[in-house]
Amino acid sequence: MQLAAAMSRLGTETAFEVLARATKLAAEGKDIVNLGIGQPDFPTPPHIVEAAVKALRDGHHGYTPALGIKPLREAVAADIRKLRGVEIDPDLVAIVPGGKVTMFFAIVMFGEPGAEIMYPDPGFPIYRSAIEWTGAKPVPIVLHERTGFSFSAEEVLRQITPRTRLIVVNSPANPTGGVVPKAELDKFVAGLERHPQVAVLSDEIYARLCYDGEAHASLTAYPAIRDRLILLDGWSKTYAMTGWRLGYGVWPRALIGQVDKLAVNCHSCVNAATQWAGIAALQGPQDSVGVMAKAFDERRGYIHRRLNALPGISCVLPKGAFYAFPNISKTGQTARAMQNRLLEEAGVATVAGTSFGAAGEGFIRFSYANSLPNIEKAMDRMAKLLGDNRA
Ligand code: PLP
Repeated sequence: MQLAAAMSRLGTETAFEVLARATKLAAEGKDIVNLGIGQPDFPTPPHIVEAAVKALRDGHHGYTPALGIKPLREAVAADIRKLRGVEIDPDLVAIVPGGKVTMFFAIVMFGEPGAEIMYPDPGFPIYRSAIEWTGAKPVPIVLHERTGFSFSAEEVLRQITPRTRLIVVNSPANPTGGVVPKAELDKFVAGLERHPQVAVLSDEIYARLCYDGEAHASLTAYPAIRDRLILLDGWSKTYAMTGWRLGYGVWPRALIGQVDKLAVNCHSCVNAATQWAGIAALQGPQDSVGVMAKAFDERRGYIHRRLNALPGISCVLPKGAFYAFPNISKTGQTARAMQNRLLEEAGVATVAGTSFGAAGEGFIRFSYANSLPNIEKAMDRMAKLLGDNRA
């Protein structure tokens, strides 16, 4: 068999590999605390599950329009109005099977040999993987620990060339928990006026998980770039629906027809019952969202304190999402070695920072979407591994 060369350039998401290894070790009888995978440890709220069951009972078994059922697209527009305070035409909403699909479609739409696409490093690994697959040149936006892993608009703007087609922004961020403040977005958008050919993909899948009372700063708030902004969001993290595969993009009017074509070529539509569940999620009671965010916030404070008490480890306070990204370089170990030792010797699953890009060396990612007792257990085990039983 002769595969297309592009296949050799496709990367992966190490969190899934770690999950598989952790599951295997657990099946062999080892007690594993999984702080590797980034998914809420809560079940999907029951009224959402019931809406899907009802949809199936009501006979929603067939194809839907490729971009999603109208009431769901309208519900998304209403939710964006409520949360982000901006008016969106429901016709520009594309319902897709998970947040990842908007990312993949955007990168495929702009990427080809000769093009450049900028992406955060450390950042969600699929950005770079998809960029490489298209043959475009991946240009990392290096995020610095000293700025809490926000980005410097000036640094981003300085790297734009005539070949730059797309810039990926992710706030709150995976794997760092970093948040880009509004003032930095202001500068970024002002600078983009000099580069009208550049589109922006704003991955706001963690928008509902911002801490310390800070409101989420969304790139949708800038009319100046509305005609070249792709918004990525979805249900996975906000409503604990990772396994349902439901996400959405809001696209520029000039691109929505291309999204329709990609959807028809790729997945036809998201399964109908899930789309009805998506409506229930957006229009039903929102208290579970608050309950989860409060629990994550409590765990954030705890893990941050415990990590900083470990020898050789320092951790900036994450401002969003559910990840802590401590610096482990003073332990003298590489990120990958630390990830492996933690899993094999301490039974704690984490993900090496290098899985999120070269700039992730010296860091490991902890997902604190796990119970406080489990996080406590993981920290105790890590303290033991690092030879400090005081923590
Ligand atoms: N974007 C970011 C930054 C993520 O961390 C994730 C999932 O971990 C996604 C997108 C994809 O979400 P989904 O599971 O809905 O495809």
